[in-house]
This record gives sequence, structure tokens and C-alpha cells, in this order.
Amino acid sequence: MAKVPYVDKDECTGCGDCVENLPSVFQLDDDDIAEVKDPKGASEEEIQGAIDDCPAEAISWKES
Ligand code: SF4
Repeated sequence: MAKVPYVDKDECTGCGDCVENLPSVFQLDDDDIAEVKDPKGASEEEIQGAIDDCPAEAISWKES
């Protein structure tokens, strides 16, 4: 079981921080809400940084 990042779209405010910091992992959808485009696009440490930095606490890990 690997853990992958997950964006709770109900919590995301669309601030874009995660997309700016890790564009290899996150992107904004058509509604300007973040989504994961490549869960393996960065190291676990880098993704944890995006989780810690999300002002809405909208990103978390889930088991894939
Ligand atoms: Fe949404 Fe958090 Fe990413 Fe901002 S940092 S776009 S609130 S998931």
C-alpha cells in the first residue's frame, strides 16, 4: 500500500499555493480548485511540505 496525496475539493479555496510550489503534482481544475495530477510527481517530503503549507488544510494522504 502506498500513500498518495488527496485534495478535499470542498476545503480547497483555490489559492494556488500547492500548484505554484509543486506543479508536477498539483494542478487547478476548470473551477480553479486544486487536484492531484501526478501523485508520484515529487518526493514524499516535498508533498508533505505542500500538505503542511496548505492554508485550508485541504491536502492529506490517503492509501492508494
Ligand atoms: Fe487548495 Fe490548499 Fe492547494 Fe491552496 S494550497 S490551492 S487551498 S489545496
